[in-house]
Amino acid sequence: MKNPSILWFRVDLRLSDNPALQKALELGNPILPIYILDDEDAENRKLGDASKWWLHSSLNKLSLELEKIGSKLLFFRGKAESIIEKLAIETKAESILWNRRYEPWAVKRDKIIKKNLLQLSKQVFSFNGSLLYEPWEVKSKTGNPLKVFTPYKNAILNKGIDFKITNSPKTIPFQNKWPSCLTLDDLKLINNKPWSKKFYEFWEPGTETALKKINAFKEDSINSYNSDRNIPSLSGTSKLSPHLRFGEISPKQIIMAISDLEENDDVMTYKAEIIWREFSHNLLWYYPEIDTKPIKNDFLKFKWNNDENNFKLWTEGKTGYPIVDAGMRELWLTGWMHNRVRMITASFLTKHLLLPWQMGEKWFWDTLLDADPASNTSSWQWVSGCGADAAPYFRIFNPTIQSQKFDPDGKYIKRFLPELKNLPPKFIHEPWNADSAILKNSDIKLGETYPMPIIDHKFARERALDSYAGIKN
Ligand code: FAD
Repeated sequence: MKNPSILWFRVDLRLSDNPALQKALELGNPILPIYILDDEDAENRKLGDASKWWLHSSLNKLSLELEKIGSKLLFFRGKAESIIEKLAIETKAESILWNRRYEPWAVKRDKIIKKNLLQLSKQVFSFNGSLLYEPWEVKSKTGNPLKVFTPYKNAILNKGIDFKITNSPKTIPFQNKWPSCLTLDDLKLINNKPWSKKFYEFWEPGTETALKKINAFKEDSINSYNSDRNIPSLSGTSKLSPHLRFGEISPKQIIMAISDLEENDDVMTYKAEIIWREFSHNLLWYYPEIDTKPIKNDFLKFKWNNDENNFKLWTEGKTGYPIVDAGMRELWLTGWMHNRVRMITASFLTKHLLLPWQMGEKWFWDTLLDADPASNTSSWQWVSGCGADAAPYFRIFNPTIQSQKFDPDGKYIKRFLPELKNLPPKFIHEPWNADSAILKNSDIKLGETYPMPIIDHKFARERALDSYAGIKN
């Protein structure tokens, strides 16, 4: 009997366009598909609660897909180094295959695993399964890393974005004897908080849904992406981020799904967003401490405020600025927040409240279903002004103007703040300016049914600018 290949699924939870799986099929040995919940390593950033919910459902879907083609997914929990080594010895595996990750702890761990397996005379294969191009493949003409978005995007477009995609296999070679392992439930990814149960109302993880979504988006929305993607009350974006985060669909599959469309401005903007995701991975690669340390060194001196009460009000959507509060409640209710509103809420936390971006990043990490080690950290740095190619610090979003511009009739606000549903559009962005008769007619008691603003915009803006001047001197 042939010795098996161990196929280690990580953030590539799909059977199509999966280069590690493809290579395992080419080797022709029986395949042992495994998943390890490696949450014991102190350096490994533990998954947030919302991500765990997604991961559980996604693993369940992958497991069912594997069963349909005669295989199964074996679950393990613990230090990947020891689990893989033990399994490779026990099953007499000839080769071990995986798709690469880019977080510093994972890179370090994978190097150790590779070294140990080679010492055991096993074959090790690793591939790019998550990106269009890996960070070291995209360089300037002079061979330097690119840390500014536009040249980075142009470099990718110049390299070409025409990829060959493989379909899911019809069968997978397997052996009759499976090693002992845990069940998906043993991983205890789902907690009993009622909070996570409601995600089922909004999301269906899995490759099948992801593929349906890109096709529906291509059909219905991509040609109005430029105008609609900034309007949070519309379904103007693809909502593929959690599917991408766990690799249920690859960015190459997305690009190829829309490759037959005319390259108009809408389509090019959408492709650019996929490249923003790549750029975030590029930053994570070149700035491995991106989750804690500002890319711009000036910001090491920045005097942040540590007002826990303001932080709590922000997380609960009780700042008194409707657009900020609607965003934070959308996040809590659905595990996702519209990109424009992510920018507004993040700007409010770091510039109006002067709370450290790391606090906001951690909250998003725990509550976003798409919480991504590259995109979340780099976006928080970008919004707060300390990241590569960041929004200039002095560009401070006025939440009221943002709200008037992107949610003019208050539809989005009313969806997530039903307590404001009777307020006329003129005041929905700034209830504090409504007179007592209007508030009474709208069933609102400011300070009781909806909060007064926790900070005055003009004061906050000047304070933020002063603080910024402080680090420049
Ligand atoms: P679409 O508009 O349909 O875009 C398609 C895909 O492109 C997205 O799924 C995503 O993979 C990628 N993309 C789009 N915009 C960006 C961007 N600005 N940066 C990087 N990739 C992008 N995105 C995450 O995937 N995970 C995060 O943890 C995350 N945290 C964020 C935190 C802040 C403070 C901000 C401002 C943005 C964050 N983003 C994050 C980026 C962006 O908000 C989401 O990717 C987007 O809202 C997802 O919705 P969508 O799939 O409908 O996007």
